[in-house]
Amino acid sequence: MRALAAGPRWVHMPTPLYFDNNATTFPAPEAVEAMLPLLGEFYGNPNSQHALGQKTRHEIEVAREHVAALLHCKTTEVVFNSGATEGNNTAIYAALQARPDRKHIITVKTEHSSVLEVVRSLASRGYRVTELNVDRSGHLDLDELKNEISGDTALVSVMWANNETGVLHPVGAIGDMAKQFGALVHIDAAQAAGKLAIHLGEELAIDFLTISAHKFHGLKGCGALFVRHGTAFEPLLRGGHQEGGQRAGTENVVGIVAMGQAARLAHLKLDQHVETMRKMRDRLQRGLLDKVQDLVFHGDQVSRLPNTVSVGFKFIDGEALLMMMDAQGICATAGSACRSGSMEPSHVLQAMDTPVSSIHGSVRFCVSRYTTQAEVDELIEKVGAIVARLRQMSPFDTSAATAETGPSDAELEQHKAWFARA
Ligand code: PMP
Repeated sequence: MRALAAGPRWVHMPTPLYFDNNATTFPAPEAVEAMLPLLGEFYGNPNSQHALGQKTRHEIEVAREHVAALLHCKTTEVVFNSGATEGNNTAIYAALQARPDRKHIITVKTEHSSVLEVVRSLASRGYRVTELNVDRSGHLDLDELKNEISGDTALVSVMWANNETGVLHPVGAIGDMAKQFGALVHIDAAQAAGKLAIHLGEELAIDFLTISAHKFHGLKGCGALFVRHGTAFEPLLRGGHQEGGQRAGTENVVGIVAMGQAARLAHLKLDQHVETMRKMRDRLQRGLLDKVQDLVFHGDQVSRLPNTVSVGFKFIDGEALLMMMDAQGICATAGSACRSGSMEPSHVLQAMDTPVSSIHGSVRFCVSRYTTQAEVDELIEKVGAIVARLRQMSPFDTSAATAETGPSDAELEQHKAWFARA
């Protein structure tokens, strides 16, 4: 039998050109520094009455204040958990239990799988699920929501900002409409926190809101669910009195303390961070436009996150592009996910009616407040050279006939087969 390694053995990696900040972010040094004492001397259980326990309890409550300040809500409305997947699951089940006589859920086709898969599973348990459409720019139609919503609607669950395109939904208007019908509102704000101002005052009709620490320079495996005061709430995890009985289990103190610091920075310096991200994003887009022919930017270019660029390069394969970028130290995400050998086009770009051929050469680049101009310029140079190389190798006719539309879906099949052999 092979002996198990005693522990992880880290091989030093050169600093990557990191443009995958919607997948996860670099932990802020301030967050790491704040959590370090909790990995050693301060290991008490925050639910213990002794001094060691009460020290960690105190640190959790300080973190709660920072998160509440970021969201502009009350500290008692913040429930710490393991991240946005748990937050989304919890909010959906809690809303349905709070409206037991209603059997209709409304969401959007472009939601994250931690919402879509939950509501789809509920469809087989007696719920009617409406998935709203989006147009080519990624926006839902408020008139469609108005037509679908009724006195039977228990929950409207919509993301604030899309993780693939950065397109924003009008959460205020959605909340107002839902309230007219007595439906509860859940907003997945995993991509909004740290990139947009979130003011959960009484005037915003949101009952539940999900955030995740690792999306705004905290740690993975930690997040928070906002539950508005007065909303009937059933915990998903039972078996302990933690988090005011709203989420059982000993708290992830390390993650929570790091999240508190990440939230403090995101709140204090939001305008500055947004400005930095927007500058880098715009430089990246301008640079790509100057350097690379035949590309399209997906999604509304106005109402969107300051950090996200979703781009389709015609006549190439996004997965091949990703592999060649990876070989040069570039981290990004493709618009088609390669799962068990088959290419699955992004459900978000599909819902936006993007031609499959264009989805296929799509990549998402996301900057953060730590992204530098030098990194953006290096990325543009490298991507330009890789795209040119892939196009030289491409079996497609990239001349005028297909230049407007990109390859047809039949050509794409041919293309995939060609790449499989190459
Ligand atoms: N919702 C959105 C919009 C996301 O982008 C993500 C992360 N990709 C999640 C939910 C899940 O977050 P977590 O990793 O914290 O479970």
